[in-house]
Amino acid sequence: MKDSFGREINYLRISLTDRCNLRCVYCMPMRGLTFVPNDDLLQPAEVEAIVRAAAEIGFYKIRLTGGEPTLRRDIVEIVERIKGVPGIREVAMTTNGYLMPKLAKPLAKAGLDRVNIHVDAINHEQLIKTMRLAKPARVWEAIEATEAAGLLPIKLNAVVTRGYNDTGLPALAALTLDHPWHMRFIELMPLGAPAGIALENYISTEETIKIIEAEFGPIFPLNGGELDGEARLYRLAGAKGTLGFISPVSNPYCGDCNRMRVTSDGKIRLCLLSDKEINFRDTLRGGWGHEDLVALFKRAVTHKPWGHKLEEGIHPELRTMSQIGG
Ligand code: SAM
Repeated sequence: MKDSFGREINYLRISLTDRCNLRCVYCMPMRGLTFVPNDDLLQPAEVEAIVRAAAEIGFYKIRLTGGEPTLRRDIVEIVERIKGVPGIREVAMTTNGYLMPKLAKPLAKAGLDRVNIHVDAINHEQLIKTMRLAKPARVWEAIEATEAAGLLPIKLNAVVTRGYNDTGLPALAALTLDHPWHMRFIELMPLGAPAGIALENYISTEETIKIIEAEFGPIFPLNGGELDGEARLYRLAGAKGTLGFISPVSNPYCGDCNRMRVTSDGKIRLCLLSDKEINFRDTLRGGWGHEDLVALFKRAVTHKPWGHKLEEGIHPELRTMSQIGG
């Protein structure tokens, strides 16, 4: 289905929980957050009902996120249910990977197609500073288990944060020399309580590229600089993998936006960086049927705003990234 700006909206990102086992500095405060009670989280049958409704109007790609989606004990069942919905072609997940050694194989068997693993640094100190409760060895175990389960290609996400991981960016880029991985560098976005950190420690893609080029020499765009999803791809000379740069702040891709989000407490979020939401869970629990859900999704697509207003100094304040699902 097309929105009012003619964009085909076909990609749904579903946050399964607002809880996380890490506390990344730009995403979740260490203390003071209250979490959605377990009973209020979307249950597997509800997630399936949402996906069925979305699929009916043309959504075909689903990403599970959070919080940390693997903290859901029913995560394998959720993947299996989504994968069984007619019209769904791809089910992916964004995770910090901590539980992948246990879950990678069952998830692959349930039909998960791919995962993005979040790793902000290789250097021990930088990793702890940025992803706070992280344990470095777990990152490599996660990647190994994910590869062994055939969940390919491996995409790694690093959020670029001045004073936290900026001097370690070349080391992350170097991972692509020997591995066929996609190392993606994401511009920091201001959301909710940790917005101050994002505003003070933001580094543009242009600067990130300069930091990497200072170590490796000039890098050149692939695909004529066209977007691949939300990333612009580059390759280090002779590398097996690619570098991706995601620039929602310096070079917004709102004109190519094809996505919508469902929050862990059952709201349709029309744009990541706008607080506009439509309540969904009460509709589901109010005994409404499939057709009502389809109508709600159509309304959501119709009301999707054009894009964000970061350049006007306006950022979403009501929720952290962990509550929306990044
Ligand atoms: N727990 C999982 C993880 O760590 O990837 C999934 C949820 S997390 C909210 C999803 C992604 O959001 C992370 O991989 C991180 O790259 C990104 N993220 C979180 N906060 C961000 C921010 N303020 N700006 C840009 N990206 C952010």
